[in-house]
Amino acid sequence: MDITKDIEFAREKIFTRYLCSMKIGEQRIRLLLIGKADKVYRSKGRLFIEDIKTTFNPEKYSDKFEPYEDHKLQVLVYLNSLYTANGSFNSDDWFRISHKSKAWIIKIIDSNDDKIVRIFEAVHTKQAKKYLKTKIERFILLTLGKNEKQHHGSIRKCSSCRLFGMCEYRLEN
Ligand code: SF4
Repeated sequence: MDITKDIEFAREKIFTRYLCSMKIGEQRIRLLLIGKADKVYRSKGRLFIEDIKTTFNPEKYSDKFEPYEDHKLQVLVYLNSLYTANGSFNSDDWFRISHKSKAWIIKIIDSNDDKIVRIFEAVHTKQAKKYLKTKIERFILLTLGKNEKQHHGSIRKCSSCRLFGMCEYRLEN
């Protein structure tokens, strides 16, 4: 709780609990996303989530200035979660980490030689929080079958998607 203290949790030793609720018609839906962050620390009052992604194909990051959307959503979920050191599902055991601001870092590591290929990072903003909320709401509606799945129809999005090689719905020139 003491925001003046820098802290760092041992690698992969902290679990995340993202709980949200949404009213759909007369129903209140609650969603819990559980995770395990690679690295969580607070430095000078700023809370950081750092995640490492490895790849055998580092070339695909050469013209990327933004992380893949699923990678970004993952760190945003972690950043907006409560935390538990023992993996408990009892919300009484979950805690907040006090902070003045938040940020995320995604490091891309080349699995062939363990060298860093790319580092994406950003300070958390109100817009990012809204972006996450919109995605979560869409996920809930799709899961409940309240929204039809729709293809975004963008070749550009597919070409920068990390699932491109294995996706049966990909669009290409
Ligand atoms: S490749 Fe598939 S998963 Fe990726 S953006 Fe295109 S349709 Fe979506």
